[in-house]
Amino acid sequence: MRNILVIEDEKKMSAFIQQGLEEVGHSVKTADSPSHARQLLLENKFDLIILDIMLPELSGFDFAKEIRSQSPTSHILMLTALNTTKDKIQGLDSGADDYLTKPFDLEELHARVRALLRRNSPDKASLQNGQLEMNLLTRQVLREGMRIELTTKEFSLLEFFMKNVDQVQDRNAIARQVWGADFDPDSNVIDVYINHLRKKIDSPYSKKILKTVVGQGYVLNKME
Ligand code: CA
Repeated sequence: MRNILVIEDEKKMSAFIQQGLEEVGHSVKTADSPSHARQLLLENKFDLIILDIMLPELSGFDFAKEIRSQSPTSHILMLTALNTTKDKIQGLDSGADDYLTKPFDLEELHARVRALLRRNSPDKASLQNGQLEMNLLTRQVLREGMRIELTTKEFSLLEFFMKNVDQVQDRNAIARQVWGADFDPDSNVIDVYINHLRKKIDSPYSKKILKTVVGQGYVLNKME
């Protein structure tokens, strides 16, 4: 899961990208103008910024330069409706790392996003919380050195909690991040999966870390 900002004023396009990226587990925020984006950039750190060229207030080319000067480590993927060499060169010159020509399908978007996120992610390969460790590449989970077998969804659920240790997550956040935007957070599936996960990562051990916070959600406590 990585933090991605989509800057695009066309609502349909923005929602399409957001939904597509959330389905594969990313956390996505959207801005419909440079001024809105500036506000989000002050409050968040994004691994990737998807930036449309045609925006209100100023062009994506100019905004890319501004982002690049303030946030040099974020990757920028530029969206262009114009499949011309001049635009591509101007986009790359203004600080974009790559570009994608509209219209594009989700597979193409995912491929570009994966390629850009791979560029700086060696440190994200494993997550650790005290004696609980998970390797995102080998998908191995260990607690006190003992291997724990998780299903794909249990793994995603644990990954989400491991990236947000000590932060209470409500059902909506869990549903969005682990199951995707269309999932109904009121179904009892989340509780069932939390119980499965708890049986595997907590029940055999004296210290319990996956807690229910009544009326609020669930939290994975930091382990010393
Ligand atoms: Ca636009």
